[in-house]
Amino acid sequence: MHIDTLLIHGDEGDRTTGSASTPIYQASTFRQHTVGQEGGYQYSRGNNPTRHALEKQMALLEGGCRGFAFGSGMAATTAVFNLFKTGDHIVASRNLYGGTSRVLDKIFSRFGLAVTYVDFGSITDIAAAITPATKALVIETPSNPTLMVTDIKGVAALAQERGLLTIADNTFMSPYLQRPLDLGVDIVVHSATKFIGGHSDVLAGVVVVKDGKLAEELHFVQNSTGGVLGPFDSWLLLRGLKTLGLRMDRQSHNAGVLASWLRDRPEVQKVYYLGFEDHPGYELHKSQARGTGNVVSFDVGDADLARSILSKLELCMLADSLGGVESMVNLPDIMSHGSVPAERKLRMGVTPSLIRLSVGIEDPADIIADLEQAMSR
Ligand SMILES: *Cc1c(COP(=O)(O)O)cnc(C)c1O
Repeated sequence: MHIDTLLIHGDEGDRTTGSASTPIYQASTFRQHTVGQEGGYQYSRGNNPTRHALEKQMALLEGGCRGFAFGSGMAATTAVFNLFKTGDHIVASRNLYGGTSRVLDKIFSRFGLAVTYVDFGSITDIAAAITPATKALVIETPSNPTLMVTDIKGVAALAQERGLLTIADNTFMSPYLQRPLDLGVDIVVHSATKFIGGHSDVLAGVVVVKDGKLAEELHFVQNSTGGVLGPFDSWLLLRGLKTLGLRMDRQSHNAGVLASWLRDRPEVQKVYYLGFEDHPGYELHKSQARGTGNVVSFDVGDADLARSILSKLELCMLADSLGGVESMVNLPDIMSHGSVPAERKLRMGVTPSLIRLSVGIEDPADIIADLEQAMSR
């Protein structure tokens, strides 16, 4: 089945009653039929039917063998890093989401998990950073907020050659636009708070793994550390997923309209958008993803102007998130990337005058009108 159909029919609802919507099993525990029962549902930290339906659906959409749902994207990422031990080493892209580098630098470093950040634009640089202790390569493509593109196949091939895992944060694309497991990646991570949920009403994370051994290890981590997603939030994601394709198509279309409009504005010095042929990652992205996504970042060259635009916007919501149906703006320098060291921020193009726009599903003319009044008043 094609992904548009899987989004609707991958989760079949409830077989017993015929309910079109998977029920919310708001239960912490389940009656066991024999002492020492094996299998079935026992306790919701280990497994819950609503969460299970979501995890199965996400595994199907990503083309993996099993999915795991967590209480946030960071809980999902943390569970993945819990697969490693003291003395292990990770080579990570310099352009990771700020929270991901924060958890590595400030939490996992306490337990002796080492990390080296390199520019993932160069396979030679990645290879040079690999040591005998290296266990995994960590990527995020396109990156937030300047949309730098990493060669997923190339990185995964290098990892396979060296016996390492490849971990990919697929939040910005969702399985609708990009399926890293098909390209050789072992573990996909999502902040489901963004496009999977899609309505800015739930905080969640998902991990999908490619093989059975990883699935067992990850389930052990999930059940042992317990950062699981609750039944109601799992249901919200199942509901959000039904319209993922529609939302993504509309948001990508609107992003194209906005990017072209922004490029022609005198206030705007630079526009980062994957649909422009002069974007350095244009061809590579096109070869590994089905669309551009909805993020358009633009630099107005002046920090005061950027702040003034953000405070004057009315329709576009100034907020620390993205991927929802409503257009959202942020100032990465002090918001999403506030915890990233200054030097690393500048290297990825995050200046104090860079604005990130996550384009929603509104009529693009109204988004343009809002930006216009904020820029010209
Ligand atoms: C938001 C985000 C995260 C963190 O997810 P939370 O749900 O906020 O914990 C991780 N990676 C990317 C790319 C994100 O945008």
